[in-house]
Amino acid sequence: MIAIRGATTAEADSPEEIRGAVKELLTEIRDKNGLTAENIVCIMFSSTADITSFYPAKAAREAGFAGCPLFSSLEPPIAGSLKRCIRVMVLAETEQKPVPVYLRGAVNLRRDITKKLVVALDGPAGSGKTTAAKTLAKELNILYLDTGAMYRACALACVNAGADLSDESAVRAVIDGIDLKIEYCDGRQVTLLGGKDVSEEIRRPEISQLASKVSAYGFVRRKMVEMQRRIAATMSCVMDGRDIGTNVLPNAEHKFYVTASVEVRAKRRYDEDRAKGYNVSYNDIIREIRERDKRDSEREIAPLKCADDAVIVDTSSMTPEEAVEFIKSKIQEKI
Ligand code: C5P
Repeated sequence: MIAIRGATTAEADSPEEIRGAVKELLTEIRDKNGLTAENIVCIMFSSTADITSFYPAKAAREAGFAGCPLFSSLEPPIAGSLKRCIRVMVLAETEQKPVPVYLRGAVNLRRDITKKLVVALDGPAGSGKTTAAKTLAKELNILYLDTGAMYRACALACVNAGADLSDESAVRAVIDGIDLKIEYCDGRQVTLLGGKDVSEEIRRPEISQLASKVSAYGFVRRKMVEMQRRIAATMSCVMDGRDIGTNVLPNAEHKFYVTASVEVRAKRRYDEDRAKGYNVSYNDIIREIRERDKRDSEREIAPLKCADDAVIVDTSSMTPEEAVEFIKSKIQEKI
């Protein structure tokens, strides 16, 4: 027995539109999976709460899929869900590999179940990759992993332990014993160091430089990369960092290198830091960003660089929304 997933959307909440969408979806599932009226065990639908005028199960019966139990239910709202979306699960008595069918823009929902979706976003500080990664993950309804937060937490652990970052053995002692966990609360990544939520603390401007220093050590990177790969192995995710497409997940199907001019990046960081109440100067920020770029791109292990197969996204003159739309359109082209 296999379970075949599929989804589609209806143009309007009307019986005609729902009937048409369901018929098209089931016919395609049947044809793509070589199903017959005899081997379909049951068909279950769930639809978004804006589909109220007609049951998808009734539409299935009217479309000729009447020889098996049919079932429809309504879903509570899901963040990022499409409008008037009808999802289906067809159980069938066959040995072949299920071929999922996604129509009318419903293609990217719950790709984590039908096929794992891994998106690697790399780029320098202030390029807009984190904003893009967060929005993208939310819209695709998959996990977001900010790998920079992990290196930031390593830096903070060293600061808390009073370890000098240029003293390799002192850093090693801290990292060997580090109790770092990444958890998710209301869709937000929470970074826990020794059980304490340090998500805000690691954003302090001075931690940026220290993270860049600590991340150059091979033993630090090995430990963090192992955690990152473990997460990506089990679920669909958008991961952002410096070396995701080149080193952490070289086989990721969707890779992007997000960048922008150094002036634009410094201005964004300046505005962000000021809004958080940090007393920073633009000139200091631009100098620090240049230093960080240099250190991150010139370090020996897994330096910041664009993977050969990554799509370059220059956000210098894009709004955050435009950057996400561009990335989404490139993902759609491939799936
Ligand atoms: O992206 P974010 O500014 O939070 O990263 C902080 C620092 O962590 C970077 O400057 C970089 O040195 C390091 N980093 C890294 N590899 C990653 C992510 C971040 O080396 N995958």
